[in-house]
Amino acid sequence: MYSSWFARMDLESVQSESVHLSVPTRFLKSWIQTHYSDRVLSCWQAEMPQVHRVDLTVRTAMRCASPAKDAPVAAEPRRDDGRAAPELRATAIAPVSATHEALGGSPLDPRLTFGSFVIGRSNTLAHAAARQVAEGRRGDPVMFNPLYIHSGVGLGKTHLLQAVTWAGNSGTERKVLYLTAEKFMYGFVAALKSQTALAFKEALRGIDVLVIDDLQFLQGKTTQAEFCHTLNALIDAGRQVVIAADRPPSDLESLDERVRSRLAGGLVVEMASLGEDLRLGILKSRVTAARAHHASFDVPLPVLEYLARTITHNGRDLEGAINRLLAHSKLNAQPVTLEMAEREIRDLVRPQEPKRIKIEDIQRVVARQYNVSRSDLLSSRRTANVVRPRQVAMYLAKTLTLRSLPEIGRRFGGRDHTTVLHAVRKIEGLVAKDTALSDEVELLKRQLQE
Ligand code: ADP
Ligand code: MG
Repeated sequence: MYSSWFARMDLESVQSESVHLSVPTRFLKSWIQTHYSDRVLSCWQAEMPQVHRVDLTVRTAMRCASPAKDAPVAAEPRRDDGRAAPELRATAIAPVSATHEALGGSPLDPRLTFGSFVIGRSNTLAHAAARQVAEGRRGDPVMFNPLYIHSGVGLGKTHLLQAVTWAGNSGTERKVLYLTAEKFMYGFVAALKSQTALAFKEALRGIDVLVIDDLQFLQGKTTQAEFCHTLNALIDAGRQVVIAADRPPSDLESLDERVRSRLAGGLVVEMASLGEDLRLGILKSRVTAARAHHASFDVPLPVLEYLARTITHNGRDLEGAINRLLAHSKLNAQPVTLEMAEREIRDLVRPQEPKRIKIEDIQRVVARQYNVSRSDLLSSRRTANVVRPRQVAMYLAKTLTLRSLPEIGRRFGGRDHTTVLHAVRKIEGLVAKDTALSDEVELLKRQLQE
């Protein structure tokens, strides 16, 4: 009974006297209203005696609806016998008081400006677009909106976004706000708790250029819906939005299709990995910056070239290498030599980055290995020949991808994150004891990595 009717129920909010729950389908909603409304209410009252009402709504995938439509859908207060079920009434969300909380942006690093950004083949377009955005004036026609920059980690997205923010805030009268997606999320959640959500939204919409970093971390239905409204409102009002993420819009799997296409509708620019010239340029600019404070510090060109050749991974490691050489030469009062550089950076030299494994690939490879179909893995079948492969696939999804438990659950036929967690733990436990299974899992991993 629980898994049929209640397993997919979510708690949306608790107000002083009412509770707002949601379920994924209209059918579930009407079934629960008809058969369980009294029990749900009395269960709540057992925990929280002040609760008088339970609102139940159908949740959709994240929507970009008008705010009014985001209020609970009117419940049909009918039972099978036609009597009203008064406990489950529709309510409008109470208007929030609009106190003007200051809207603080994320901290900016003073070093991350256009001046210190080195241009190379892999980032020319992203840089040019960012510059253009930063130099616009209030009221200028907006050329690409949103500007969406994506790349792997450490390739300069945050640098570029903060450069836009610095330049925008100093050069013109426009208001430029830089927020990480997490900050956006916490800002919004905090505003909801303190009943200042409206003020938060208003403040966001008063921004001329909204810069959002690491969009892939935007989590949570409400936050995503809010982001979606903000995005639409700003773009429609001709304001500029700049976004960075670690993947293209089409790969932001947890976001609603409409948001993804809105994101893809501006200018999407990828920054490829840093070429050797660019790496050398970044190293040189780092040395120059360090010399401003440590005049005696110098790194001979052959050493810089060696570093640029060897540290292929990302900008952060380049910066780390220079910092180490600086520390070492200061502490030991020694000039930087090639030999010293080789010793100091040994652990920064990494093999080629492993390729990104997709959940579909895992499902396909596991299905083939165990001779079941991919749809079996996604289905609700519980026979042993399907359950084990499914658990293995979920385990691999957790260990080989960066996807979260809820996301993996969703990709496995809409399972709950606790189910995924259970599978992961189960296989972890078995792999430790059962050598046959552990070999199988190793084999699967190897197939996927190839
Ligand atoms: P991301 O946000 O893409 O993960 P960051 O912007 O944080 O990457 O960059 C990581 C480090 O590399 C930072 O110290 C940054 O200043 C440096 N960096 C990356 N690309 C460049 C560049 N083109 N010019 C100068 N520094 C760069
Ligand atoms: Mg970043």
